[in-house]
Amino acid sequence: MTGADTINTLAEALRRDLPIVDAELGGRKLIFLDNASTTPKPRSVIDAVTRYYTECSANVHRGVHAMGIEASRRYDDARLEIAALVNARPDELVMVRGTTEAINLVAHGLRLAEDDEVIFPASEHHANWIPWRVHSKPVPMAIDDDGVPRWETLESLFTPKTRLVAVGHVSNVTGAIAPIEEVVRAAHSRGVPVLLDAAQSLSHLPIDVKRLGVDFMAASSHKAFGPSGVGFLYGTRERLGTLALYQVGGGMVSLNEDIGKGDFIPRDAPFRFEAGTPAIEGTIGFGAAIRFMRHHGMHAIREHDLALSRYLIDGLTDIPGVRVLAKDLPSERRIALATFLVDAPAMTQENVARALSDIYGVCVSGGYHCTHVLHARAHLKGTVRASPHAYNTTAEIDRLLEGVREIAT
Ligand code: PMP
Repeated sequence: MTGADTINTLAEALRRDLPIVDAELGGRKLIFLDNASTTPKPRSVIDAVTRYYTECSANVHRGVHAMGIEASRRYDDARLEIAALVNARPDELVMVRGTTEAINLVAHGLRLAEDDEVIFPASEHHANWIPWRVHSKPVPMAIDDDGVPRWETLESLFTPKTRLVAVGHVSNVTGAIAPIEEVVRAAHSRGVPVLLDAAQSLSHLPIDVKRLGVDFMAASSHKAFGPSGVGFLYGTRERLGTLALYQVGGGMVSLNEDIGKGDFIPRDAPFRFEAGTPAIEGTIGFGAAIRFMRHHGMHAIREHDLALSRYLIDGLTDIPGVRVLAKDLPSERRIALATFLVDAPAMTQENVARALSDIYGVCVSGGYHCTHVLHARAHLKGTVRASPHAYNTTAEIDRLLEGVREIAT
């Protein structure tokens, strides 16, 4: 099979399940290349959410009635589905609102002191930057002029005050895949835990938390074909056991005796971190999204990604006046995501993204992509990001390339 065949065969199979690829907005079809922001939802996900509403719209883990039991079954099944995808145990997954909340839970839970140090690449998304700024002494690792972390500097950053290394699995700007096994080796040899931000990798790469050896992992459903408002924090039983309570309330209590008469005892992890009614329909939809990805196969998705990565990066770098960040990273070390600058007189990079949408019907992201420090250190006043996924075809990339080529001339 040629690269184009690999791309288009899987893309066509996924497209049959994604109603939005046939939809029109304002009378025209759009090409969606902004999957790093959020992905479309398959029919099976939409149906799973709808069926919860139409068949068993009850609260979970509370009702002893038939409807509550059915809602709980569907909700618990989703947790099993998520756990199986990443080779975790269901009791190692705390259901939260998304990657941001998962990282905040760890930042809060570690009870960090002001001078406790957290190492992370300066290129990280704000979700994996600001919590360390607020809760600890941030130690941002150097990056190169394209925003790729200089991993060779990692060892020099550890001090007796290092409490955590927090790393994005895949950069939302360069698409670069971090060398997680090496990071884990360096950190664990000093007894320091590792948190992995898997927001951009969960739907692109096969992930095995045990093989990677990370202590925590954060991810969001909405970037993996599922609904927004739900995600998870993976943590080993040992690590979850050391985290301070994050939120408290109903559902996380084992015992609450009256004041002066006794104590309050929280439940075991993961429930101790899941106060209040969870995102029931969102979680059920997340489970369906994972079934969708596993049905097509994470390895097949990665094969598509490798071929698409070459197609996209080669296509963009061939256009005069276009600079692609980290263009020389081999496709094995990146996902199919390209952040680039277009040399177009009197146009900002946001203007370029807007023109691609308005004139060519291609939806890409323009701006800073929640990475102000990366852009500042790389002296960039905004960039354009195209982030296709497994359902995107070569014809859609060709349309992007045509638009960029015309804008650049
Ligand atoms: N980390 C990375 C690398 C991301 O790309 C994003 C979302 N753009 C996040 C964290 C935050 O994810 P969420 O908004 O779903 O919490």
